[in-house]
Amino acid sequence: DTPAVRTAMDRLAADGIDVVRVTYPDLIGTDRARDVLLDHLPSACDHGLAFCRAVYHTTPQGDVVPVRGGLDAGLPDVTVRPDLSTARGLPWEPGVAWCLGETTDPATGSPSPESPRDLLRSVLARCEQAGLRPVVGPELEYFLLEQDTAAPTGWRRYGQGVAGVVYTAGLRADADNHLLPTLRKLRDLDIGVISANHEFDAGQFEINLTHSEAMDAADRAFLFKSAVKELARKEGKLATFMAKPFNDAGGSGFHLHFSGEAAGDSVAEEGRNVFDDPSGAYGLSDTARHAIAGILAHAPALAALLNPTVNSYKRFGPDTLAPWLIDWGLDNRSAMVRIPPERGSGARLELRLGDASANPYLATAALCAAALLGIQDGKEPPAPLQGYGYDPEKSQMLPTTLPAALDALEADDALTEVLGKDFTESFLTYKRDEVDRFNHHVTDWEFTEYSYHL
Ligand code: GLU
Ligand code: MG
Ligand code: MG
Repeated sequence: DTPAVRTAMDRLAADGIDVVRVTYPDLIGTDRARDVLLDHLPSACDHGLAFCRAVYHTTPQGDVVPVRGGLDAGLPDVTVRPDLSTARGLPWEPGVAWCLGETTDPATGSPSPESPRDLLRSVLARCEQAGLRPVVGPELEYFLLEQDTAAPTGWRRYGQGVAGVVYTAGLRADADNHLLPTLRKLRDLDIGVISANHEFDAGQFEINLTHSEAMDAADRAFLFKSAVKELARKEGKLATFMAKPFNDAGGSGFHLHFSGEAAGDSVAEEGRNVFDDPSGAYGLSDTARHAIAGILAHAPALAALLNPTVNSYKRFGPDTLAPWLIDWGLDNRSAMVRIPPERGSGARLELRLGDASANPYLATAALCAAALLGIQDGKEPPAPLQGYGYDPEKSQMLPTTLPAALDALEADDALTEVLGKDFTESFLTYKRDEVDRFNHHVTDWEFTEYSYHL
């Protein structure tokens, strides 16, 4: 073990830590982890922890999806090394520290194509070369469920039946006081949360994270989702980030606030928000406008990564506050890209496309890649949306199904070049397997619609 590992271990031991939970995101953003006894940390750092290189789907059976190099290769190892610089104590599990793991393929010593952090890292390196250091502020919504043995799924929506709850705080809409303790525990976890509020629908909440450099923001969004789910289980409840869990409620968004700092420029320029320009159209810089144009141009393909489930497309629609059309607008929440009113250091765009089920790393990588392409091509966006954003006469429509979005991703040569062919192939294989499983599954809707009169 190295002196750095020794120092980290001493620090953890002094904080009363005896177990380190080493967590990494898999392809779809699920947190995969191993709890390692502190005494064995040096070995984990030296040799890495062995996980099975497979991509699992999320049914209780946890079946393996045949991405290349997984099942076909006999389910070889993927090696996960703790990144101790990310270690932080878990406020709700004394003695346990949480840290992110870096994955490598032991056969080659390089990252495997389904490693979301490595994908984001490579996209960010391309941005940095182009002088852009992306800054991201994630906003996530989720629904809270409580156990209901009478419900077919075993769960019902928490707080159901209370209306008019958006932007309320306190016990009227949150009778079990879920939100306040969650907010405080997340603060203690030190992942940069700002505030929490009730969302539009009963049982739906939003918690905002501060903005920071894109990898850090994606790490925090990833840990956030995992932490909220864990805290909900402590309450005996279930937090779900699925896009559209209920027919009688809106979906859960994963809004990404996006701007950029100047990178690699003169010292005076470093860190300046390159989206701001008081003399530019709408107070935005050329860079900002090109980034918007890139996001609009690649939106059908972006949907595959920001709206990655069969269920995601049920969130889109008129009057949902989720987008439906490919458009942008000034402080317009019905647009896919909203430009919040702030300028100066706060000049940014808010991509409202993503839903909460997206893998934060892939969503961030896709957003940065599309913005980069727009900047490199010097693309100009159309005029911003005026007024109501759900008029299909005004703009092109987003893909309406996951298969359509996957086809759009496959057809988008410029975007897949930035994301990498290997990654794209693994992702498409995984997601087309998901679509196929869905297509063969008989749903409640079909039974209700067809069983009685036909
Ligand atoms: N729940 C909406 C969505 O799915 C967003 C509502 C809001 O603007 O906060 O994106
Ligand atoms: Mg919201
Ligand atoms: Mg928002």
